[in-house]
Amino acid sequence: MKPGDPLVMVMPITYRCNGRCVMCGVWRNPLKPDVAVQTVEKIFSDEHLANSLTHLNLTGGEPFLHHGLLEIAEAVSNNLKNISEININTSGILADSFDDLFVEFNKRLNPKTKLNVSVSLDGVEEIHDKVRGIAGVFEPVMETIKKFQKVCSLSAATSVNINCTFSTLNYRGVKDVIKLADDMDLNVSLTYACVNDLYLRNSKYEETFHFKEDDFAQLIECVNEWLSFKNISFTEKHYLKMLASMLAGHKRSSSCVYQDRGVFLDVDGLVYPCGTVRSLVYGSITNDSFKDLCYSKRGSEVRGELMRNHCSECLSNSYYGLGKGIWLRVLKERREAGK
Ligand code: SF4
Repeated sequence: MKPGDPLVMVMPITYRCNGRCVMCGVWRNPLKPDVAVQTVEKIFSDEHLANSLTHLNLTGGEPFLHHGLLEIAEAVSNNLKNISEININTSGILADSFDDLFVEFNKRLNPKTKLNVSVSLDGVEEIHDKVRGIAGVFEPVMETIKKFQKVCSLSAATSVNINCTFSTLNYRGVKDVIKLADDMDLNVSLTYACVNDLYLRNSKYEETFHFKEDDFAQLIECVNEWLSFKNISFTEKHYLKMLASMLAGHKRSSSCVYQDRGVFLDVDGLVYPCGTVRSLVYGSITNDSFKDLCYSKRGSEVRGELMRNHCSECLSNSYYGLGKGIWLRVLKERREAGK
């Protein structure tokens, strides 16, 4: 593997969703069909990718609505030689459909692959329901989390954590989610509700959830409070400190794995360095190999433009929670390379 090969991939597998999150444009406009299992198998037979990827995030929409989710995870686990973690994001609303599936994951995935399920919880009780846009889903989601915890306790290869996306709708209630997770002995990832035109497609709804400069002082106060909790990981804390500094007017101080070690693979086969800017696309995996896409002249131009014009203002947590070691590994590599 050489420096620059992708280590992490974010891959939506369906844009269908059972959530109605105020800050998300995906469910409002699920334009593209689900990715087919055969397509995934073909993509992951790409030699370059099969040798380089170590972490994969299967996301949506709601990935558990994809009938081939198990087969997709299996294809990833069997084809990618160095894959150490598959993370699946979920709203946790489909509580009943998880039971058998999780047992099957344990049976069919290569035992070297760790499976983490990240359940979105954006508040306690009605705050969660308000953000999700559906009344009465907090309790079923809590049931899902407890079920996952029970199944995960049977295998060291499976784990569950909570992801809390914060916006103007819920940031004052985030500490209650962190406390609740702490009581349940769970880690929490905190995700700033970003606005982007590629993955989230939510700029039209920005007014309803996005922070304005007047909110920053209060948000910084909350962020500083979140830093005191022990179930927020070291890398998440690093991100939160950087976020507070950016809200106070500074540029992004830390580099991001996706600048040259990550990829966002959309359901239609288009490959991007990250899920932020629609125009910065490497090309289609259905036409070219990953190597040709990422190491072409176009590939360098895309990465260059991303770094020059977008990264320094980007508030994304860049999936710091995905594979705790990845971010540190990339940082060390860049330091050694004098970047
Ligand atoms: S900092 Fe933001 S824009 Fe830059 S690569 Fe990371 S996620 Fe993409």
